[in-house]
Amino acid sequence: MSVQFDRIALIGIGLIGSSLAYDIRRLGLTKEIVVATRSADTLKRAEELGLGDRYTTSSADAVRDADLIIVSVPVGASESVAKEIAGSLKPGAIVTDVGSTKASVIAQMQPHMPDNVHFIPGHPLAGTEKSGPDAGFPGLFEGRWCIFTPVAGTDEAALKRLRNFWEALGSKVDEMDAEHHDKVLAIVSHLPHIIAYNIVGTADDLETVTESEVIKYSASGFRDFTRLAASDPTMWRDVCLHNRDAILEMLARFSEDLAYLQRAIRWGEGDKIFELFTRTRAIRRSIIQAGQDVDAPDFGRPHPLDKK
Ligand code: NAP
Repeated sequence: MSVQFDRIALIGIGLIGSSLAYDIRRLGLTKEIVVATRSADTLKRAEELGLGDRYTTSSADAVRDADLIIVSVPVGASESVAKEIAGSLKPGAIVTDVGSTKASVIAQMQPHMPDNVHFIPGHPLAGTEKSGPDAGFPGLFEGRWCIFTPVAGTDEAALKRLRNFWEALGSKVDEMDAEHHDKVLAIVSHLPHIIAYNIVGTADDLETVTESEVIKYSASGFRDFTRLAASDPTMWRDVCLHNRDAILEMLARFSEDLAYLQRAIRWGEGDKIFELFTRTRAIRRSIIQAGQDVDAPDFGRPHPLDKK
């Protein structure tokens, strides 16, 4: 593949930043990767893993002369990063991010972006429950969606360049407005994580079930929740705080539907329960048909779609 950007600056080098670094290098998409992260420890680890060509704890230094800047930090840190890099951006550069919420990231970053750079918010729907530079791996974005939420007046040529970049990583690109993104993600990603955190917390609080039993018999459903509930606490705290309205709306609907199910169980309404469980099974089949998962039984063995 050919060079798309002379210099790419990666601000934040955790799971997403390091996975980007592997693929950018593997596919030869740039001449130089500059890695920036706030802590010396993470920077040292990124260097040991050989993720970049240059390393710095200063985001402002990292973006100087970079043609593409990818911000991969918890969404709550978006404004401080935007402020730090604003004065050092090269005219014509593309600034994008990978944050899991979009309206808040735009509100935090856009006011600080100079008029002569292209700010294009993005969100790759790819990840794992792991974090930090050691969690990254090549191919994370292959076959996954990357959603852009462009702001009004975005330059078409810049959009196309960024689209080409994500497509080179194997992603399928879609565009929508930030509010719509935040609603969709609230139901497909944010709510499932919140439910998982909650159910694992409830199990942890139960006094009648010992911790050893929870772990010993976990394969009967609980284990799948623990994977989600092991996700990075900082990232998910920020998602909850920065997609508050959409999450609260989805939680309200979820609570109503749960009450319906609770009532059906209480009154022995088997037909209602059966109808719901049949409907949800069809959703699982559609996900497999869409190539978003595989139809293999999973009893704790490595997942066929997990590269690591
Ligand atoms: P991560 O592995 O925890 O890495 C976070 C990176 O951000 C590290 O380089 C960290 O630096 C830096 N950072 C943390 N707090 C910061 C702060 N207050 N100011 C500046 N830098 C800070 O996170 P990740 O999983 O790559 O997630 C990064 C972004 O991608 C998040 O916005 C998340 O919503 C989004 N995302 C995640 C996933 C996923 O599954 N994980 C999927 C799609 C999108 P130090 O280590 O040096 O402190």
